[in-house]
Amino acid sequence: MAKPSSVVIVGGGHNGLIAAAYLARAGFKVTLLERLTVLGGAAVSALAFPGVEARLSRYSYLVSLLPKRIIKDLDLDIRFARRRYSSYTPDPGSSVGLLVDNQDPVATRSSFRSIGADSDADAWTRFYQCTRRIAETVFPSLCEPLLTRSEQRTMFGDDTLWDQFIEQPLGEVIESSFSSDLVRGVVLTDGLIGTFTEAKAKNLAANRCFLYHVIGNGTGDWDVPIGGMGSVTSAMSTSARKSGATLITGAEVTSVDPDGEVTYLHNETQHSIRTDYILANVSSTELNRLIGVDHGAENEINGAQAKVNLMLRRLPKLKDSSLDPAAAFGGTFHINELYSQLQSAYDQAASGSIPNPVPAEIYCHSLADSSILSPELQASGAQTLTVFALHIPNHLVTESNNDQFRSQIEAAVLSSLDSVLGESIRDVIMTDENGDPCVETKTTLDLEHALRLPGGNIFQQPLDWPFVEDAEDLTSPAKKWGVETKWDRVLFCGSSAKRGGAVSGIGGQNAAMAILEAD
Ligand SMILES: Cc1cc2nc3c(=O)[nH]c(=O)nc-3n(C[C@H](O)[C@H](O)[C@H](O)COP(=O)(O)OP(=O)(O)OC[C@H]3O[C@@H](n4cnc5c(N)ncnc54)[C@H](O)[C@@H]3O)c2cc1C
Repeated sequence: MAKPSSVVIVGGGHNGLIAAAYLARAGFKVTLLERLTVLGGAAVSALAFPGVEARLSRYSYLVSLLPKRIIKDLDLDIRFARRRYSSYTPDPGSSVGLLVDNQDPVATRSSFRSIGADSDADAWTRFYQCTRRIAETVFPSLCEPLLTRSEQRTMFGDDTLWDQFIEQPLGEVIESSFSSDLVRGVVLTDGLIGTFTEAKAKNLAANRCFLYHVIGNGTGDWDVPIGGMGSVTSAMSTSARKSGATLITGAEVTSVDPDGEVTYLHNETQHSIRTDYILANVSSTELNRLIGVDHGAENEINGAQAKVNLMLRRLPKLKDSSLDPAAAFGGTFHINELYSQLQSAYDQAASGSIPNPVPAEIYCHSLADSSILSPELQASGAQTLTVFALHIPNHLVTESNNDQFRSQIEAAVLSSLDSVLGESIRDVIMTDENGDPCVETKTTLDLEHALRLPGGNIFQQPLDWPFVEDAEDLTSPAKKWGVETKWDRVLFCGSSAKRGGAVSGIGGQNAAMAILEAD
């Protein structure tokens, strides 16, 4: 019998686990090396506060882009909760806000009216019918060989839609569709997650980011993983192990020879493995470092997001006392994210300051899934809160000011929350067993240190279109699947692959498909 081909996967993020499971099932000898003691990369759960039994999704928290097909192929035991409320956005400086209730169109319309945006209610429905059509067209192509721009455009089947969402800056279609500053802002946020840009940027960075945020599983819904992100990646590692892959944690890869050798440190001992293929679940910056080549244009990779995790004794009161906080916190809660505020925050950050107010969005996992809390915490009414603060670019922080910067960001984020709540958030923050407030803040530099995300970019690098230009060479399996590197035996299998960003497993499955085709 022929010896099975071998693969070494550098990095044990969720994409590495997906690639490992597919390839081990296909009979490959798979070894995955993760430097941390836990698998999952940016998709993990953690007990973040001493003595507080809450398994928080420490980094990523919602799932939209993980195809049902991958879940089925790999028998992944993952369950999701669908959120009833899409979003709540208080109108800063007033006590009213926009509540989008997916199950009650009449209530949603009346909420549009309450913020003086009656005419935007129909526009909202029309706009998201358009994104739904785009989702149905684009999403199924993500787990297939890459399409060219012309092929993707033909599949769109609607030139107006293509021009509005793919060719013209996102701000144009938002401004022509909606009149309210608040509604425009809510729509724009999907173009800014993990992306430091402005609505009308000519490089269309907001369009690319927006596209990935509205196409997941053909609907664009963002669901809550039951048990938190740790459950998602634990299901993936179980599948990879059951399929025969060897997963080694605490294994820091120290060098990669692109001709087929990987060297790593494990238990203070150096090991080398010769292999037919190397899959890089790490960023291109990290891969270049491991191979020993120049980093190139790292500045363009920088992230712009801070993450704050909190434990609350209870949900805070709202300015609108007639609204149930469980509804407001049941979806994405937008804070100081008016369209004009987002522009002003971008301008302030671009010119070197922390935005005031910081635009942010919050999400309460425990309302949709209390299983991440101990029975005692559940009974006490405690809730988790995750804040994603926008427009805090990496160029504002340095190794020497990081501690001070983290404190400044934390204070700015809490103040931003206070500006739209009916009481100070500080009054409901739980304390840990040492009497310290349960607040964990991660700057872009913290993300880089913890996960090797260059410049703290949550997607390892800026998001690319899910298609390639017409002239692109798609002759090799690696190019065809969007996983090529400069070296033949080395393929990307994670966020740095084309179509790889977010918790999707798509980078991992596409790398596996490329290897199966090449082998
Ligand atoms: C704060 C934050 C919030 C996010 N929120 C969401 C969200 O809600 N929904 C969503 O879909 N996406 C979200 N994302 C993005 C998403 O989490 C990532 O795109 C995704 O998890 C990346 O997975 P990956 O497997 O490609 O790589 P990663 O998760 O980046 O994993 C790479 C792994 O490689 C390891 N590694 C690096 N260098 C080496 C080495 N030399 N040797 C061995 N191992 C190495 C790292 O330790 C890491 O475990 C978020 C990301 C962050 C940071």
